[in-house]
Amino acid sequence: MSITPLMPVYPRCGVRPVRGENCHLISEDGTRYLDFASGIAVNILGHSHEHLIGAIQRQAATLMHVSNLYGSPQGEHLAQRLVDLTFADTVFFTNSGAEAVECAIKTARAYHSAAGNEHKYELITFKNAFHGRTMATISASNQEKMHKGFLPLLEGFKYVDFNDLEGAKAAMGSKTAGFLVEPIQGEGGIRDASDEFLQGLRALCDEHDLMLIFDEVQCGVARTGTLYAYEQYDLTPDIMATAKGIGGGFPMGACLATEKAARGMVAGTHGSTYGGNPLAMAAGEAVLDVVANDEFLSDVRAKGERLRGRIEQFIGDYPDLFIGVRGRGLMLGLMMKVEPRPFVAHMRDNHQLLTVSAGDNTVRVIPPLVIDDSHIDEFMERLSAAAASYAPEAPVT
Ligand SMILES: *Cc1c(COP(=O)(O)O)cnc(C)c1O
Repeated sequence: MSITPLMPVYPRCGVRPVRGENCHLISEDGTRYLDFASGIAVNILGHSHEHLIGAIQRQAATLMHVSNLYGSPQGEHLAQRLVDLTFADTVFFTNSGAEAVECAIKTARAYHSAAGNEHKYELITFKNAFHGRTMATISASNQEKMHKGFLPLLEGFKYVDFNDLEGAKAAMGSKTAGFLVEPIQGEGGIRDASDEFLQGLRALCDEHDLMLIFDEVQCGVARTGTLYAYEQYDLTPDIMATAKGIGGGFPMGACLATEKAARGMVAGTHGSTYGGNPLAMAAGEAVLDVVANDEFLSDVRAKGERLRGRIEQFIGDYPDLFIGVRGRGLMLGLMMKVEPRPFVAHMRDNHQLLTVSAGDNTVRVIPPLVIDDSHIDEFMERLSAAAASYAPEAPVT
């Protein structure tokens, strides 16, 4: 037998973390890494946050799981908090980002179906998007590398260029249910939607009674310096998927919706065995305790600006390696002139600095939101050393 016990679907690197301490990871062999990847924007409170640990420990000892057959005081409390903090009137809890997007897709279809318009099931989505790895969420993305071997896809998605409002308009038809979009593409390379684009989609939805769905699985939960990124666009979606940072490392997600958008999601239409269980709710509450206040959010914006300024200043010394920095808050993308993957590996293996590569030749810099100036200094030292010692193979064409 040559298959590994862990199904070999991940191209894993040699780092094997066994412990986390604030913004550092310690591997099996004792090596200490500066973690500016945060489990891909998940560990927003770092790795050993006492408030989060305490909340999970207390809840684990009290009540870990009950079925959604029973009333949920824990779920009601966290849902009310999210409703108070966002555009939404109602929340469905999930265990992952893909499930939150799945629920968003079902909510949009059910919205039209509830009005007798079952033929309005098609969502317009955007190229280079990432919405997850379930059948529906890979079908929602145009990325063929995720489709290969898994055909046929789920019907009902149409792909248009990101930030192309005219293209989105032209793709609309009698089957259109709405738009599904990441306000800031994460895997796609930290690419911001423009104000005009999202505001234009909002106007099209208002005019044609369509659903505007935001996938804030990566950019949400304080990552960009507001609790959710949509707040920076002067509009609200009808439906939104959130996950990654929301549990601070505990697996959870949520689909948020307005009362109107959720009109089809009545008793018996959707469910999840684990979704919203008391342990997840305790983690979600602890994360909101820390991040959902003006002081924390403005601190994320300030740290994001300092980090971005430092990187911008530094990359001028390496015009052959770097093009620039983009993104918001602590969701930054370092645009490269060379393949980002080998540079990410070089930073990791030779300078003990963890980042994540993304599409469009970008390195994602997505640290825990609790970094302080010492971590920014350490990041700059490691990045500088990595750039100085790097011999790229060939520039990207
Ligand atoms: C990570 C991600 C998902 C999928 O989340 P999982 O928890 O891996 O299922 C969906 N959308 C976006 C934008 C993401 O970044």
